[in-house]
Parts: sequence; structure tokens; C-alpha cells
Amino acid sequence: MTNKEIANAFKYLADLMELHQENPFKIKSYRNAYLLIRKWPEPLAEKDQGELEKLKGIGKAISSKIVELNETGTLRTIQKYEEMTPEGVREILKVPGIGPKKVRVLWKDLGAESVGELLYACNENRLVELKGFGLKTQEDLKKKLAYYEKSKGSYLYAGIEEEAHRLLNQLRQANPGMRIDLTGAIRRKDSVLPGIEILASGKPALDPFIEKVHIDTDTQPACRGKTLEQGTTVMIYTCESSEFGSKQFLYTATPDFLKQFVQTYKALDFKNLEDEQQVFAKAGLPFIEPELRSDPHFLSLASKNELPVLIETTGIKGVIHAHSTYSDGINSLEEMALKCRELGYEYLLISEHSKSAFYANGLREDRLEQQWEEIDELNEKLAPFRILKSIESDILNDGSLDYEDAVLAKFDLVIASVHSNLRMDKEKATQRLLTAIRNPYTTILGHPTGRLLLSREGYPIDHKAIIDACARHHVIIELNANPYRLDLDWTWIPYALEKGVMISINPDAHSIAGIDHIRYGVYAARKGGLSPEMCFSALSLKELDAFLIRVK
Ligand SMILES: [Zn+2]
Ligand SMILES: [Zn+2]
Repeated sequence: MTNKEIANAFKYLADLMELHQENPFKIKSYRNAYLLIRKWPEPLAEKDQGELEKLKGIGKAISSKIVELNETGTLRTIQKYEEMTPEGVREILKVPGIGPKKVRVLWKDLGAESVGELLYACNENRLVELKGFGLKTQEDLKKKLAYYEKSKGSYLYAGIEEEAHRLLNQLRQANPGMRIDLTGAIRRKDSVLPGIEILASGKPALDPFIEKVHIDTDTQPACRGKTLEQGTTVMIYTCESSEFGSKQFLYTATPDFLKQFVQTYKALDFKNLEDEQQVFAKAGLPFIEPELRSDPHFLSLASKNELPVLIETTGIKGVIHAHSTYSDGINSLEEMALKCRELGYEYLLISEHSKSAFYANGLREDRLEQQWEEIDELNEKLAPFRILKSIESDILNDGSLDYEDAVLAKFDLVIASVHSNLRMDKEKATQRLLTAIRNPYTTILGHPTGRLLLSREGYPIDHKAIIDACARHHVIIELNANPYRLDLDWTWIPYALEKGVMISINPDAHSIAGIDHIRYGVYAARKGGLSPEMCFSALSLKELDAFLIRVK
């Protein structure tokens, strides 16, 4: 082991012990060992216990640990504390810039057991009220966590979208006359991606935007590197301009999509086509949007000329599912409403957390009354824009909703979501949702699996049973547009549409900035082939009113 590795082991041990509130003197001595060994001028691994003990500042206890580290690669004490600490919490501990004292509060008081859960909690302003935290600490932590997540090799679409487009423009400017475009997963707008993929007709000059890691002119991608801006992985594919269309088609499709395409059109030669449109023309197909090239289902639809007209961001008419300072949002109700109106939406359906969500300042009945009063006042002021009275009602363990029927009946509509006890088995979790779906007051099922992309899988549910029940009870399913959720997963949209279940693209905004998440929901919904007719949040206010009269 190098001195640095030995030193880091002591730091890790000190962190773990501090996390578990162990003896401060021991912790201090391990921290000192870290500082000392890190800068020790000669390699300690070459010394035996006797020699180590004589060194200034390294006593008996530390020297025997150095020997143990050298022999076993770890320490028994480290293993002991590791066993007492969930894996995700150990990972949080590794995020640079968060000390063990803070990690302990986040773990014990907030219940955060992974980096993703913590990041999500930041986005929902859960840290503001924690002891020793505040808005500034929360924002700071959010940046550190996002950076850490990104460095792990997979990216959220929302995390690299802007950088990808900036990079594309820079490369185009630096390489005039060359065709350069996004390709692969980022062109398909996949929710989770391996990085930025780019196709160029020729070998583009990459300086000073990309730090090259690997270059090989014979294989694809020809270059693998990192952006200098954010360190995002970049893959550059190169081709002749005479085959740009063929290659763009090839790299944009997923393997499944491509496999079916090749099988169906094996008699045809798609090489050396300059434009992608030529590929489709040759196959006798209408152009298939890149978003639809993840799922071969849409290739079948294209061959029957039955491709859906896809929902667009401009097609969303109202902001459904948002929080204000009444529960855990950052902006006031009025600020939220004004922003929605400014952005051109016709209505805001405000849905605070319900009373069981004590961690999110959920609303008791008296505060509901108070909010309704304010809504009535604002509606007079803001007309024809309208705020609708909703709630994000917790689905309790047994599947029941969080208020008496008499209260539920007063909402314009109810969104029912699971927020607690996420670790149920499939059978139980499905039953819990089915009960909530059967409740006559449920209009929208919120984020059906509770997943957080790149960090929490979400509880296992029987998607088909849930969608079937929604069809039977006329419940709309949310596609939560928060880029960490995108839940319902788009792959289930075709089945939902087949059953006649509408999808609502909801930002779940906790601030005015969060309203913009709607577009990520739209991107995901397009991948599943959602059309404006089947999109609930594409209803105009007039249509929504008519709908609400119908369901009441
Ligand atoms: Zn929720
Ligand atoms: Zn919510």
C-alpha cells in the first residue's frame, strides 16, 4: 500500500466512527494519523511493526493498524463499522465536502440512505428544516451530489442536455463544412444515458472542448473523451459525408429496433445514403422520430402507417401537480400561479402534500380551508387564468387515502401517491395501489413506482394489473416529469394507450423553476408514443372543466 492509501484508510475509519458517534479521542488520533502519514517522506509499507512504533507521532496502536492494512488490505475495525452502515450511506460519506456529522443527520433524521435519495430530498427542500442545515447548505449539497452522481458514469438526460447542445454548436463552429450531429441515446432523448454521442462526417477538431481519453481511427466510436466543461463522457463517431444518413440511422437505433429493421428489410441495401430520410424512403416508411427508435413496436406501427402524432411541449395546457409554501415548495401560491400564467399555461392545479406527510408539511383540514380561501381570492385577480384545488394525497399502507370522504369530495380532483413504506413486496405494493385506484375520489395516480433514476429502483408493481385497474376505474396515470422520476416509465405508455388510459405529464414542481420539468416529461412521453388526445395535461381549461363535471 502507498502512504496515501494507508492515510485514506485512517480517514475513512475516522469518518465511519464519527458517523457512529464513537470515542472522539480515538477519532482524533486516526485523523492525525491520516494527516501525518499522507505527508510522510518515505514509504511506510516497507517498515515492520518495530520500526513503525519508533517513528515520531506513530504509536503502538497506529503502527499495528498499518501492518494490518499492509497484510490484509483493510482493517477489521473498518469492516465492523461498514456492517453497521447501509451501503448508500457509506457512499454519501464518500461525496467530497460532506462531513460525517452532517451525513449522520441526513441518515438518522431525514432517512436518506443513498446519494440519489438525498439529492431528491434536496430538490424537495427537505433539508431546509434540518438541524444545522438551511437553504444555502441544501443548494451547496445539491451541487456536490449532482457532481458526484455524474462522475459515476451514467447521466440523466436533464443533466447533460444543455452541455450537449453547447458542445455541438462549438464543434460545428470549429469544423465548418463538416456535418456534425447528436446521435445515439441522447438523440433518442433516453432518460438515462452513457454520455454525449456525436456523429461527424470526417475527423473533427476537438480542441479545446474535449479532453481525449482514447482515439482509434479503425473502430467506432473513433474517439472517447471528456468534455472540458463538466467532464461528461463524449463518444465521437466518424464517417464519410456520403454515408452520413446511413450511419446516423445505424447509431440512433437501439439494438432491438435495429434488429427488427434488419430482419424486415434484409433484401435492401441501406449503405451510402447521405440523408437519413433516404433510409426511410428506401424502406417505404414514413420518417420515424428518433425518440421512437428505442422500441421496435413503433417500427411495426410505421410499416402500417399508424405512427402516432406525438405530444409537444407547446401542447401542454396546464400545470398539474405542484407544491407551494403551504407544504414543501419554495415559492408562494401566488408566485407559482403568476409564473404559470406568464409561461402561457391556462391553469395551475395545486396539489400540496396531505396531512400524513408530516416531513413535507402536509396540510391539515384547517390549512386546506385557508388555502382554498386564498385560491378564491387569487382566481378573482388572475382570471381567466385559474388555480384548481387539488391535493397529493398519501396512499396509506392499506391503500386508503389520507382524508375523510367529506374532505376528499371538496377537491376539484385528487392525485393519490405513495410516499412512505416503499419497501413492500410486489403483491402488497400492487394491492395497496389497486385499493387507491378503486377509491372513487382518486382521479390521478401519482408517480406509480416511486423510483428515482440512477439511485432508487422504486417498489415492484404489477404494471399490467395497475393499468387495467386504471382503465376500469377511469383513473389517469401520472408521468411525473421530474427528471429523476419520469415515472410512469415510458415503456408502459403503449400498453396504457391500448387500454385507453390517459397519461398526465405533471412537473411535480416545488418551485417556479420546477415548472420547466414539464419538457422532460414530454420527451419521455414521446418515447412511448403519447399523442395530445391521450394526454390529460393537454386539456384546455374549458375541456378540463367539462371533464370535472363529468366525473363528479
Ligand atoms: Zn409525490
Ligand atoms: Zn408532489
